[in-house]
Amino acid sequence: MKKTLYLKFILAYVLFALFGFFSVATFVSRLTYEFCQRQTARELYQEAARISETFAADLYNSEISLDMVQEQIESLSYYMGTEIWILNPSGRMIVNSKSAIDPDTEVVVKGFDPTVTQESYYTTGLFFDSFEEEQLSVIAPIVNDYKTRGYVVIHYPDAKIREEANSMLNISYIMLVVVLFLSMIILIFFTEIVYRPLREIIAATEQYASGNMHYELNVEGEDEMGYLAASVSYMARTVANSEDDQKKFIANVSHDFRSPLTSIRGFLEAMIDGTIPPEMHEHYLKVVLNETDRLTKLTNSLLSLNNLNTQGMILHMTDWDINAAVRAVSASFEQVCRNKDIRIRLILMGEILYVHADEDKIQQVLYNLVDNAIKFSSRDSEIEIETTEKGDKVYVSVRDNGIGIPKEDQNQIWERFYKTDLSRGKDKKGTGLGLSIVREVIRAHGENISLVSTPGAGSKFTFTLRRSDLNDALDDIEMDI
Ligand code: ADP
Repeated sequence: MKKTLYLKFILAYVLFALFGFFSVATFVSRLTYEFCQRQTARELYQEAARISETFAADLYNSEISLDMVQEQIESLSYYMGTEIWILNPSGRMIVNSKSAIDPDTEVVVKGFDPTVTQESYYTTGLFFDSFEEEQLSVIAPIVNDYKTRGYVVIHYPDAKIREEANSMLNISYIMLVVVLFLSMIILIFFTEIVYRPLREIIAATEQYASGNMHYELNVEGEDEMGYLAASVSYMARTVANSEDDQKKFIANVSHDFRSPLTSIRGFLEAMIDGTIPPEMHEHYLKVVLNETDRLTKLTNSLLSLNNLNTQGMILHMTDWDINAAVRAVSASFEQVCRNKDIRIRLILMGEILYVHADEDKIQQVLYNLVDNAIKFSSRDSEIEIETTEKGDKVYVSVRDNGIGIPKEDQNQIWERFYKTDLSRGKDKKGTGLGLSIVREVIRAHGENISLVSTPGAGSKFTFTLRRSDLNDALDDIEMDI
C-alpha cells in the first residue's frame, strides 16, 4: 500500500514550516523593522521638539551661552546614543554634539532642505551625504517670534534600528518554532488516532477483497474510526455468512435433487436389465412418477423462493375475502383429506371478511400451511382453520393435532431446507422450502407469523393480515337492512 495520505500530511507540514519561516523572514521582518523605525522616529522627534523649545530657543534669545548648549547637547546625545545638530536655516552647523564648532570655520550641510521629510517627520539615508552609514534623521524647527530661526536635527544609526528589529524578530522565530512543535504533536496525535486505524481498516478490506472474510479487524473506539471499523467487519461477517448460507443452500439443493434422481435411475436400470420383471413395471413406474413429482415440486419451490427474494417481492395489494380463500384452499385438499380420513373444520369470522393483501401470495401461504398440517397429521384427525379480526388486523390460524415441532426446531423450521427429525419419516416428499416461502411473503406484507406447537399434540400457525376498510362499508349495509 502506498503511504500517500501520510506523505501528503508530512509534505503539508513541511510546506507549512517553510512558509512560516519564509513569511517571518520577509513580511514579518519588514513590518518589524518599519515598526521600530516609526517608534524611534517618534521618540527622537519628541526629543528634538523639546530641545528646540528649550535651550535651542534660549540660544537664539541669547539667554544661554553656546558652550552651555554644547554641553547639554553632548550629554543628551551620549545618553540617547544619537548625534544632535543645531543648524541655521541655510544649513550652517551651529552646534554638533560630536564636537564643538569652531566659530572661525564655517561647517555647512550642503544642499540642506528641511522639507526633505515631506509629510512625515523623519527621513532615512546619508542626510545630504553627511554620513557614510545610513541614518534615521528627524528635523524639528526652532521658532522664535513666528520665524524659523533654525533646526534641531537628531540622527540615529539605521544599523541600531535593524539590530532592535532583529531582536524583536527573534521572538517571532521562537513563536514559530513553538507553533511548529505543537503542530508536530497534533500530527503525531493524528497518526495515532486516524492514520494507524485507517491503515488497519485498509489492510482488513484488502484481506476481505482477497476472499479471507474471516480476517479479524481489531480497531476499537467510540469515534468515527471505530464506527467505520465496526461497519466494515459487520459487512465482512454478513458476506461470510451469506457465503456460508449459499454453500449450504447449494449442498442442500444438490442433495435434494440427487436422491430422487438416483432412485429414478435405479428403478429404470432395473427395469431395462430385467431385475424388475415386466409385470412389476407399472408399480415401479408409479414410484418413478412420484419421484418426478417431488423434483417438480422442488424446482417450483426454488423458483418461487428465488423470485420472492430477487424482485424484492412486488405485491399486488387488493381487497378480497379471506374466508372465501380459506374455503377454496380447504376444498382443494378434499381428496387428500378423504384418503387420510382427515376433517377440516372452518371457524370463520362472519360470512365475508375482507383483507388488504396480495391474494395469490396469501393463498400460497394458506396452501403451504394446510399442506403441512395434513402431512404431519395422523389418520382420522381434525384440522382447524380459523379467521378472526381484532382492531385493524385479521388473524388466520391453521391448527393440527399432528406430530408437533420440538422447541429447539421451532426457530429453524423457517430456514430453507430445514426439516425436523420428527417429520423425516412421515414426509419423504418434503422440500423444507414451504415455510421459507410463507415467512418471506408474510414479511413482505409487513405482517407477522407465529407458531405454538407441542410435540405429539399438534401445531398452530397464526399469521396476521391488514383488515380491509371494505368490512366497515359491509357492516353499514347490514345495519341498514
Ligand atoms: P416441507 O414441509 O416441504 O418439509 P416446510 O418448510 O413447509 O417444508 O416445513 C419445514 C419443516 O417444518 C417440515 O419438514 C417439518 O419438519 C416442520 N413442520 C412444518 N409444519 C409442520 C406441522 N404442521 N407439524 C409438524 N411439523 C411441521
